[in-house]
Order: sequence, then structure tokens, then C-alpha cells
Amino acid sequence: MEFETQYTTEQEAFRKEVREWLDINGKMPAELGPLSGSEREMTRAQWEWKKEFRRKLGHKGWLFATMPKEHGGGGLNVDQDLVIKEELGKYVELQMRQTAVAGLYVWGTAEQKERLLKPLLLGDIDFWNVWTEPDSGVDLASVKTTATRDGDDYVVNGIKCYISGDFDPDYMWMLAVTDPDAPRHANLGHFFMPGNLPGITMQFQDLINRGSQHFVFFDNVRVPKEYLVGGETQGWQVAQTALELEHGAAGSIVGRENVSQNLLKAYQSGSVHAMATGDTAREHVVNILIRSKVNTLLSQRNFWMFRSHQPQSYHGAQATWYSRENRIRMADDLLDLFGPHTLIDDKDLGQLGGRLEAAQRGACMGTHGAGSYEIDKVIIARRVGMSRTKEVAAPTH
Ligand SMILES: Cc1cc2nc3c(=O)[nH]c(=O)nc-3n(C[C@H](O)[C@H](O)[C@H](O)COP(=O)(O)OP(=O)(O)OC[C@H]3O[C@@H](n4cnc5c(N)ncnc54)[C@H](O)[C@@H]3O)c2cc1C
Repeated sequence: MEFETQYTTEQEAFRKEVREWLDINGKMPAELGPLSGSEREMTRAQWEWKKEFRRKLGHKGWLFATMPKEHGGGGLNVDQDLVIKEELGKYVELQMRQTAVAGLYVWGTAEQKERLLKPLLLGDIDFWNVWTEPDSGVDLASVKTTATRDGDDYVVNGIKCYISGDFDPDYMWMLAVTDPDAPRHANLGHFFMPGNLPGITMQFQDLINRGSQHFVFFDNVRVPKEYLVGGETQGWQVAQTALELEHGAAGSIVGRENVSQNLLKAYQSGSVHAMATGDTAREHVVNILIRSKVNTLLSQRNFWMFRSHQPQSYHGAQATWYSRENRIRMADDLLDLFGPHTLIDDKDLGQLGGRLEAAQRGACMGTHGAGSYEIDKVIIARRVGMSRTKEVAAPTH
């Protein structure tokens, strides 16, 4: 069976257009310095450049290319979006949070789509996912943050943690208890609220991945009711739509193959200190290449299914689970292949500019972001009918 993507003449013509545009707009100016592999070390100037690039891409219709034009998307088809993502991957790594996009698209009013979804799709604004709390992780429905109605506002109080994002969030996609007396799953409201409202403070959260996670504190924050998405106690349904995206429904085009191809090149060129040699080394390299390819194919399948509106079931969780499993196994293979050098973040003794060491730290953290690794399995079991609880995917279009 042929696994390589075949392109049409139209796609190749479109690729030329995308490349030409990216050559002009997609290269970070040299004076801003090289982008660090660690999100945390990105400078504010680099972040501002990325923001502006996101805006240009959005106004070109290429940020959320397959979303309808009337809402600020590109109105393009999946074949074109595939080309955009492939080319974009060669230039800039952009965080493409999709959760609030789907949430606003499915649950927002016509007025909210104009006021909130449109600027999001045009790249004028971005947001953070503000869900997890110190006592509410995978069991997200147990959040304790409250949003109490007071006149035309909700007054929000609580603490969120592990919240990913760089510098200042324009908006927050946030879940809170709106009716403390209502039963579980019928007591929550979902908000897409400005990130700079008085009473919001943030504190950096230092994790082993050296990523960009935060605590977010809400102290009597007044959120106008226009920022509630869905009904006052429909927050759980809204969250479920968003969580489909968080659990991999949208897929991606560029998987971990880039990493494995770079690794292969480095290994072949002898520019890295390998501990394993001969058949043992070959086995580790081949393992990495095979699993990376499977990972990419699962992500690409979801990319196509999502953008061509195919019904999805276990697909998102399957791809996410595999991706995380692959990261752990890849970290083990790297350790066996390169030995202690894999564990050193040192410009002389470390390998591939510290990327191997980062892969060790990132692999264990990767099992926890966006729910957790075990929860992917729970979702798959429920959706293929192997669990006491049965469920179907929430709407995303
Ligand atoms: C790098 C990173 C980035 C993150 N970014 C964000 C973000 O931007 N926004 C946000 O809101 N959150 C974010 N998170 C938080 C993330 O969603 C939570 O870590 C995750 O939901 C797990 O919650 P927890 O860490 O509290 O673990 P817990 O919920 O305490 O779970 C602990 C362990 O028990 C297991 N477990 C719990 N219940 C079950 C069950 N029913 N069946 C089987 N196993 C179970 C879990 O799988 C896990 O291994 C991020 C986390 C990380 C690590």
C-alpha cells in the first residue's frame, strides 16, 4: 500500500502561491534572534512578531482555512488547507488552539460569532484554555471556580493551574460553576472572556518541561454576561465540544516525522555520540522511524476527517494516545541509542542542541497535557462500546 500523499496539479499550483507569500511574510527577522526550543525562552519581541504574522495569515484566510468565510475563515477546502499546513510547518511554529473556535461556532449566538469568533478566525485575537484547577484535572466537571450572577455580570472567583500560554492572553476560554445547587454536569457555565479584566492575576508555574504554564487567579472578576457561551448551565456541553478538539479531533499534518528524520540524518552523518552500535542501533532508529510514521498517518487521517466533516468517534483519542505513547517510547529509544548524553542539557556534551534532553523531559509531561494518557483510553473504550458507559463524540461543526 502506498502511504505517501499524492498531490493534484491544483494543489501544486496553490503550493507555489503559499510559498511565495510565506517567503515574504513568514520569516522572522534575523535581528529578533533565533527562536529557542523552549516556549518559555521566547522573547516578547519574537512573540509580538508571531502575533502579527498570525494576524496576516488570518486576514489572508489561511489561519483557519476551512472555516466559513462569513465568520472570518478562509472558505477553502481540505486539499488547500493541507498544503498551507505543510508549507507553514517549514517556516513558523504557530500554536493553533481550536477549542474556543469550535465552542463558539457550535454554541455561540450570531452576535457572538460576529464579535468573538470572527476576530479569532482572522487572527486578531488569541486565547488560553483555562480549565484545570488544583483539585480538578481529568475530572474536569468537578471544577470549583464560581461565576455568580450579579446584575448584568458574573462575578468569578477561583484558581486555575497548568494553564499554557505566552505573555498576555487576549481572551480566556474558561469553565466555572454558575449554579452550585444544580447536579453535576448541569451546574456549569462556559465563558470566552477578556484576559485583562480587573481581578485576574497570573503566576508562572515551573514544570519539568520548562514550558509556559501558569496559575491564574480570579478575585471578584466581573465578567459581563455577553461573554457567557451557551446557556447559563450548559457549560459542560460547551466544554465537551471543545474537548473533542483538545483530544485530537482536528489532527495535524506535520507529525513527529520531522524530528525522526532530523535524528536519522544526524545519526547517519556521525555528528552525534551514539552509545549503541550495529544491529542494536539500527533497531532503535528503525523503531523511531516506524512509530513516527504511524503517528503522522493517524494525525493526518483526523486532519482530513475533521475538515471534510466526516463523523468521528474514537479517532481523536486514538491519535492522541498513540502520539503520547510514541513520545515515551521514542525517549526510551533515544536513551538506549545515545546513552547518558541524552540526559545532558549542555552545549558541548548534550546532543542536537539540547533537543534530546528536552525530549526526555517532554515525554513524561506529554502524558498529562490535554486530559491525560489514561483518559484517552477511557474515551476509546466508551466509544467503541467496551465500557459500562457508552458515549458518542460531541458536535464540533
Ligand atoms: C504541559 C501541560 C500543559 C497543560 N496546559 C493546560 C492548559 O493550557 N489549560 C488547562 O486547563 N490545563 C492544562 N494542563 C492540565 C492538564 O489538562 C491536566 O494535567 C490533566 O487534565 C490531568 O490533570 P491532573 O494533572 O490534575 O491529574 P489528575 O486528574 O489528578 O490525575 C492523576 C492521574 O490519575 C489518573 N486518573 C484520574 N482519573 C482517572 C480515571 N477515571 N481513570 C483512569 N485514570 C485516571 C490520570 O490519568 C493521571 O495519571 C496542562 C498540563 C500540562 C502537563
